[in-house]
Amino acid sequence: MNDSNPMHLLAVVGTMRSGSTLLDMLLGDAPTVFSGGELRTIWERGYLRDQPCSCGEPVQRCEFWSEVMARAFGSAGQPDPASCQVAEWQHTALRQRHTRQIARSVATDPDLADGPNLRDCRQTLLQLYQAIAPVSGRPWIVDSSKLGSDISLVDLVPALHTRVIHLIRDTRGVVHSWGRGHATPSSLRSVIPSRGPRQSTLNWLRLNASTGLALRSLGRGRSAVSATGTSPPIRSLNWVASQPSSGSL
Ligand SMILES: [Zn+2]
Repeated sequence: MNDSNPMHLLAVVGTMRSGSTLLDMLLGDAPTVFSGGELRTIWERGYLRDQPCSCGEPVQRCEFWSEVMARAFGSAGQPDPASCQVAEWQHTALRQRHTRQIARSVATDPDLADGPNLRDCRQTLLQLYQAIAPVSGRPWIVDSSKLGSDISLVDLVPALHTRVIHLIRDTRGVVHSWGRGHATPSSLRSVIPSRGPRQSTLNWLRLNASTGLALRSLGRGRSAVSATGTSPPIRSLNWVASQPSSGSL
């Protein structure tokens, strides 16, 4: 990938239960798009816990991810120092509550000269994204990790040509979805517990507010997709482009 044939990062941010999986799949139907799902999970779940990839193989034995990691970090499908380090950062410095702090740091100091951890983490994420594009053969990468902290960190990296979709589902649909609980894929043998209306509403308000403020502090105007209704999860989409497009899907 080079400037004449750049890669593009399409980051989906917002709260859980907002329809990001469906949006990810819809976007992934385009032949130029790699649908990455929640890419932030590749480090801990994929490489430290060796949970299955969507292809069915454990991530460390997945042909695609082994090639990506080898290209990005010189490893060959084995846990590498980058995986361990990013997983640690995700627990300590890249949580949703750090979103506005990271956005402010990036906005005032794009090189992150005073934040070695953030700078190193950004470089690691950049290497991952840049390896996915040539291995997949698709210049657009969709990352629906949803955390504003992650996208705030890489948003202004010129090589990524980032677009951001702030996916906001009607809070009634989110509350309804949280009330039902959620089973993860059977291979993971776990269940995400349900939440009550008060907890899920407060969480929806807090996360969408902090994400919106972070995007504004990074110089982005309105950048939202509203997803309304509960069944099907997304009944209508109203796209507001986050910045002038220099490429197309
Ligand atoms: Zn795989």
